[in-house]
This record gives sequence, C-alpha cells and structure tokens, in this order.
Amino acid sequence: MLVEGRGCTLRDQFGNEYLDGNGSIWTNVHGHNHPTINAAIIEQLGKVAHTSFLGFTHEPAIRLAKELVDLVPNGKLTRAFFTDNGSTAIESAVRMALQYWKQNGRPQRDTLIAFDRAYHGDTLGAASLGGIPLFKGSGNDFGYRVISISSVEELTGLDANRIAAVIIEPLIQGSAGMRLWPQGMLKALDAWCQTQDVFLILDEVMTGFGRTGKMFACEHEDVVPDFLCLAKGITGGYLPFAATLTSERVFEGFLGEPDEGRTFFYGHSYAGSQLGCAAALASLRVFRDEQVLEQLPAKIARLRELMGDLPRFRQCGMIAAMTVDSPDLSMGTKVCLAARKHGLLTRPVGNTIVLMPPLCVTLEEIERMVAALRAALAEITAMQR
Ligand SMILES: *Cc1c(COP(=O)(O)O)cnc(C)c1O
Repeated sequence: MLVEGRGCTLRDQFGNEYLDGNGSIWTNVHGHNHPTINAAIIEQLGKVAHTSFLGFTHEPAIRLAKELVDLVPNGKLTRAFFTDNGSTAIESAVRMALQYWKQNGRPQRDTLIAFDRAYHGDTLGAASLGGIPLFKGSGNDFGYRVISISSVEELTGLDANRIAAVIIEPLIQGSAGMRLWPQGMLKALDAWCQTQDVFLILDEVMTGFGRTGKMFACEHEDVVPDFLCLAKGITGGYLPFAATLTSERVFEGFLGEPDEGRTFFYGHSYAGSQLGCAAALASLRVFRDEQVLEQLPAKIARLRELMGDLPRFRQCGMIAAMTVDSPDLSMGTKVCLAARKHGLLTRPVGNTIVLMPPLCVTLEEIERMVAALRAALAEITAMQR
C-alpha cells in the first residue's frame, strides 16, 4: 500500500521509500505533493468542487481552454473539449471526426485508420483502434470501420474518400513496449492527411506535457493535427481530466439550429470538473515558474549516459526503456519486483522495463533509479544461470 508521496519519492505503509520510476503510470509531471498544485486545488475547493458542464461554463475551464490552445504552435487549434480520461479524449475526437463528415457533405467517410500495435485506451470505442491483442478483449467489431496499417507507405493503396481520420501515437508507441517511429514519419503522415483532406488525430495522452522533451511530441516534427488528445499529465498527475483540442473548422461544422441535430452530444457527468481545471492550470504555471522544459536536456542526457549500454536501450526525451532478451516472458515482472527492494517502483510492458520519472526528477535521483534497475537486472540474470 502506498500511503504518501513527496517529489519523486513514494512511501509504503511500513515506511519504506521508493523512487517513482514511471511517474505513477505516466501521469505524474512535477512530483507528488507539489505545493503549487496542492494550493490551487485547495483554493478551488473553497469555492466549489464541481458543477455540471452541460449548458454551463466556469472561469477555470475558460482559462484552461485558452492556455491549452495557446501552447500549440501556429494557431490552428482554437477549441478545447473536456472529458475525464485518455480513452474519452480519444473517443470524442473519433466521434467528432465521424460526425463532422456525416453532417458536412462527406457521409461516406466512415472509416478510421489506426496503426498496428497502437494503444488508445480501454473503453470499447478506443479499444477498437488498438492493435495489441492483449488489450482488445473480444475483438475489434465494435461498430465502426477501422483499417490497421503498419507504415505510412501503406496509405498509398487506400481510397481516401472513405477515410474520416488517421490516428497515431506520435514519435513513440507506449503500450506496445516503447516503440519508436522512424524520424520524419509523423511529418509524412501529416502531409498525406493534408493532401487528402483527411483528419489527423494525435494521441498525446502519454507524450504530452513535456515527456518527450518538448511540451508536445508533435512539435518535434512541426506538425499540428486536427485533433490533439491530452490526458495523463494534464493535471500534473493529480486528477482524472482530459482535453481534446481541435480547429475552428471542426467547431463550425457543428453549428446550427437545435432542431437541425448538428450538436455534438457527448458529455460525461464530471467533464470539465472545476477541480481538474484548477489542477491543470496550476500544472501549467509550474511549467513556467520552474522552467521545467528548460531543465530537461541535462536530464535526458543523463538517462542516456547511464542507460545507453543496456540491452535494446531506446529513448524519447524523458521516456527511457530497455528490453530483457529472454524466452521467459515474466522477466520484466521479475526485474521490476526485484527493483522494489532497491527502492525503485516501475511497471514492465512485457519484458520491457520503462523509466519515465516525473519531470522534476533530479540528476541524483536518476542515478539512484538506474543503479536500482541495474542491481535488479544483475540479481535476476544471475538467478537464470
Ligand atoms: C494511457 C493511454 C490512453 C488511455 O488513457 P486512460 O486515461 O487510461 O483512459 C490512451 N492513449 C495512450 C497513448 C495512453 O498511453
């Protein structure tokens, strides 16, 4: 049982301390118990915790929408739609894309393109886009057409007139085991989408908010999508909250008189929660006040120096991974369990071990994390011999 946290450290019920090596499943950004985010949530609690977003709005949501769209280069994204987790951030983008074409003259555009080994969430609609059998449950026939491809080249043979949108995890597929895309791939995908006037949906649920070294992964290749899906790190890892950013063109495609039925009917009860907005605004303030992004290059370099020689090492900014080559598919689990005894918490993806600490991690904490990982690896591999 984890009972307490401060910065990158978590404490269990016996008082043992651990470094949070995967940022509490890729959510935590500025560390646990951050004074700025704590204070913002407490201040908001003193006003009101939650009010319905159906037919109402509130100041924290308006401010947050503005700050989020202003973070994305080139001004194309002007609108934010709030939900409460990564899967619904994806589903609202997909449903907006499908409904947009349906009511704006291209109803034949009913198909989504997703990538092999993709992971876009666990709800039925998001899982339909997934390409990892383990997470797909009963299959892929949940109601809308999805074509799975494994490279941009495969787009050439497809009839773009049937395609509503292409969805991808930019730069790196997370749940597939930290698989890096070739450099320039996102740019090429964006070019195809623009030529064919097909929507590009970027799933930055994992990569958003500094994880790749820039605020958003798409900045690395100068791409601005039609839909940008954000969740996990949006509140600094404090509260369930998500946003789907989109363009003025998409927004206008839903305008009309109520009886025309052009409304986007999608509103979870806790969407746009005031507490979530307050936490997200505070997290963005910490990015500015503590110059979080400016400090990342040194940390990224340190991770590479310390881990570069590990088997199948790969890295995308503050996301570092290595894979234990073994026919024993529980090696990842064994290494992570052994690492606990050395004060490191992380979770494997198969035999891949991930280090994705909160961005506030110090160089010294990075050293301790890697030392713990190496000690665990040595113990487990010695036992195999
Ligand atoms: C975690 C994740 C999701 C799903 O987010 P939830 O909040 O867990 O529903 C979607 N896409 C990616 C890339 C993720 O890493």
